[in-house]
Amino acid sequence: MEPARCPDTVVLSDTYLNLGKVHWTKAFALVCAGKVEVLEEHEAFVRSAHREHPIPALIRYIRPVPGLYRKRRRLQAPQARRFSREAVFARDEGRCQYCGCGLTKREFTLDHVVPRCQGGITEWHNIVVCCTDCNRKKGKRRPEACGLKLRKQPAFPPNETRPYFIRG
Ligand SMILES: [Zn+2]
Repeated sequence: MEPARCPDTVVLSDTYLNLGKVHWTKAFALVCAGKVEVLEEHEAFVRSAHREHPIPALIRYIRPVPGLYRKRRRLQAPQARRFSREAVFARDEGRCQYCGCGLTKREFTLDHVVPRCQGGITEWHNIVVCCTDCNRKKGKRRPEACGLKLRKQPAFPPNETRPYFIRG
């Protein structure tokens, strides 16, 4: 394959987060600077004065990338919603997920669908917006144990982007 037609190189962070693609010349620059390790190579070579170098297909930063998380948050907001009180409020559109009443950011509470005392964890699939009345009624019980019904099954926000991990 001609280097000019070579596909780009996929870049992973030190924690195997997919950071996107770079041109192979940039990939070589990172390899030469000792910043990345090569995990896979293309079946294409570039020739230097003395030898042929396979073009990296997949590279990984050896050290944490400075500013990565700050930068990603800025780039992806509000698409990649980290789990937070505010983000759950946004996902549930400010409505109690049991009775459907509209709530303000000052008055809403968060409910563990499966209570913590029964092993329920604090993440997207187990947390919903809840009004104080429903929260009081529910207490430390599951919804079905107290006649409450979820309006919809809690899930990741629709535009949640999930990190891409390489197995193995
Ligand atoms: Zn309610």
